[in-house]
Amino acid sequence: MELPRKILIGYGVLSRLGEFLKNLDLNGKVLIISGENVKKRLGNRVEDSLITHEFNFLWYCAKEATINEVKRVEEFAKSKGVSVILGVGGGKSIDIAKLTASNMNLPFVSVPTSASHDGISSPFASIKGLNRPYSIISRPPIGILGDIDVIYEAPKRLLASGCGDLIAKITAVKDWELARDIKKEYFGNYAANLARMSAEIVIKESEGIGKGLKECVRDVVEALISAGVAAGIAGSSRPCSGSEHLFSHALSIIAPNAGLHGERCGIGTIMIAKLYGMDWESLRKSLLNIHAPTSAMEIGVSEEQVVEALLLASTIRPDRFTILNVKKLDYESALKLARSTYVT
Ligand SMILES: [Zn+2]
Repeated sequence: MELPRKILIGYGVLSRLGEFLKNLDLNGKVLIISGENVKKRLGNRVEDSLITHEFNFLWYCAKEATINEVKRVEEFAKSKGVSVILGVGGGKSIDIAKLTASNMNLPFVSVPTSASHDGISSPFASIKGLNRPYSIISRPPIGILGDIDVIYEAPKRLLASGCGDLIAKITAVKDWELARDIKKEYFGNYAANLARMSAEIVIKESEGIGKGLKECVRDVVEALISAGVAAGIAGSSRPCSGSEHLFSHALSIIAPNAGLHGERCGIGTIMIAKLYGMDWESLRKSLLNIHAPTSAMEIGVSEEQVVEALLLASTIRPDRFTILNVKKLDYESALKLARSTYVT
């Protein structure tokens, strides 16, 4: 079990970044991996805090989260004698920083600037170019610093996507239970409950999140971090990722760039919940409250592509037993599922 050592969440805490790194006993040269826009928006605040605490640092502006980019960052970090890796940004920079640090056996600190998925705290990195569409196991951050003011300023679509990734834990845990019962797979009750709880808080507060209340943004960030920690406790992505994620991965193959990860997962959750005979309508209602997409049209995919993704989903990860292995879908039943849940 690998878990973060320190988590600091609060308003305006970005200005305490240097102090946070010192409290983690980190020294030496810090490599900050971020995107151009994040650097422009927050660069001065990050630098001021690091200078105050006498850190040497340098920036790397990351482009795509690909394995080649990770290799480039590794070479850069080696040539500069870096000893700490900081990922400042949304998904991409965090994923690159996480895998680079893990490959180089260096401490990694996660500074999310948006709350679009649970990768901000999980041991999993989503990297392209590895011949598989799902995340690879890496190491979790040793520290996470989440400034709610910064995350609040990020586009609301990202937050809604993070909520989709959280509501997905409802069906992910169901699949995990199914694998325990049928395949005698290891099941961690605590990790499962932690993941489920992180979904339940989002469902409970969906109206406040939809209204953009700042305290609700904080709850979403905490829930995403808890979900990532649940994966760390389980030692697998099981509590966070089930058949709704397989649907999302399948859709990303069929229609690359259609919708964000959490948006696709949210839509997948509605359909998988129906397959389980659960109250899918209330999950859909929560997503509607949050202004997260609930239909194929909203993320720019056709009915045909949704059906194709539903059929492809069970083949994505043969090692992952889910409801799709029990209730085998064919063209007709997949179409019926998509239509009856208003996805298409
Ligand atoms: Zn996810």
